[in-house]
Amino acid sequence: MDHAVPSNVEAVYEDVVRRNPAEGEFHQAVREVLESLAPVLARHPEYTDLKTIERICEPERQIIFRVPWTDDRGEVQINRGFRVEFNSALGPYKGGLRFHPSVYLGIVKFLGFEQIFKNALTGMPIGGGKGGADFDPKGRSDAEVMRFCQSFMTELYRHLGEHTDVPAGDIGVGAREIGYLFGQYKRITNRYESGVLTGKGLTWGGARVRTEATGYGATFFASEMLTARGTSLEGRTVVVSGSGNVALYAVEKATQLGAKVIACSDSGGYVVDEGGLDLQVLQQVKEVERGRLSDYAERVASARHVAGGSVWDVPCHVAIPSATQNELDADAAARLVRNGCIAVSEGANMPSTPEALEVFRQAGTAFGPGKAANAGGVATSALEMQQNASRDSWTFEHTEARLEQIMHDIHARCAQAADEYGTPGDLVAGANIAGFVRVAEAMHAHGLV
Ligand code: NAP
Repeated sequence: MDHAVPSNVEAVYEDVVRRNPAEGEFHQAVREVLESLAPVLARHPEYTDLKTIERICEPERQIIFRVPWTDDRGEVQINRGFRVEFNSALGPYKGGLRFHPSVYLGIVKFLGFEQIFKNALTGMPIGGGKGGADFDPKGRSDAEVMRFCQSFMTELYRHLGEHTDVPAGDIGVGAREIGYLFGQYKRITNRYESGVLTGKGLTWGGARVRTEATGYGATFFASEMLTARGTSLEGRTVVVSGSGNVALYAVEKATQLGAKVIACSDSGGYVVDEGGLDLQVLQQVKEVERGRLSDYAERVASARHVAGGSVWDVPCHVAIPSATQNELDADAAARLVRNGCIAVSEGANMPSTPEALEVFRQAGTAFGPGKAANAGGVATSALEMQQNASRDSWTFEHTEARLEQIMHDIHARCAQAADEYGTPGDLVAGANIAGFVRVAEAMHAHGLV
């Protein structure tokens, strides 16, 4: 697939590739946004004159650092840490930390770039950033994870602050890691600065619904797309990929909204449970025991575990990819469409390849891109920051109602921008355009900085 990109934008893209060699995921994320911008540039010549696109593609600051620590055997380990502070036009840099062996600068930049537009779409005052390390928490003891987090924060703290840069979790970074990171920040700075990290525990400054927010939000977004097409999630079969933070709460919310979630996955394979997944068992296996999905199949008689393979082989009406980037390719997309899938809501960041996206476009599948569909997580992080700033704590019901309204508004913003710029129903274009315009306007207001 190669979408038409105006020649001046193509030149910007080629420059991004030249200046950021061997960062394929970053190139892919940039290209997907630039492909949507032709009608915007036609209407706003000032964006070309002021080199707005060139400026948005260049991070404001990139930090790479050594993270030394000792494992339980006393052996010295060295990892590499990253924080890319991409764009602060709308507020402090905001975006998660990912701990996974695949992390390198190109992954962090792709995620940070997506984050700029996602955060803009929420309508909240947050800029875009992302970070992480090539550390693999899998199989590590709590003590090792703690030592790693303490070493990581010993360098990172100097770049953070509630008005500067506010990280959260992502793959491999959950409540446990946020706790250790916060503890070390507090110890070094001698400040109980609640607003410096989000995803905190409920007893020490965390917000209700933050844990559930990304999965709930992606499901609300699926529901919005179906409503726009005159139907609903009620009675639909759903397949979710992954079985981490986003996936588990997508399972919960889809079930609450009357759908039946019949399959989910991890990096070892997938489980199918035609009667509907048992969330309690899933949570026990994944959140408490940090185990494998094969353990789920051993405990639930109606479930079957498939080692390896693709969860997208399982027929469904609605797919919520919630594992990682480029996990859903053109073949998988074609299978989903053939099997009757009518909507895809991306819980993960960029889980669909460009070729898969094209398959869904051709088939007319309702498609919610990650930067819109999974924005509920960061939006609820912004609600956590609000509560921290006012030393307040909201109820679950109130916070969830706010999240649902935010997802409704994001869908409406994307749909409206798609209409306004001549691509009705194309939420990929709508998300890119609405996010870009909001950031660009703020950047212009601030002058050339
Ligand atoms: P998580 O709790 O660490 O769970 C990740 C899940 O995806 C696990 O089941 C993991 O399986 C699977 N996975 C990860 N990398 C994989 C790979 N390379 N191949 C196959 N499976 C893989 O992470 P999460 O927070 O749910 O994040 C999932 C996605 O949502 C990511 O794209 C993230 O950027 C995005 N996201 C997260 C948030 C948030 O609030 N957490 C917000 C917005 C977007 P294993 O356990 O077997 O590795």
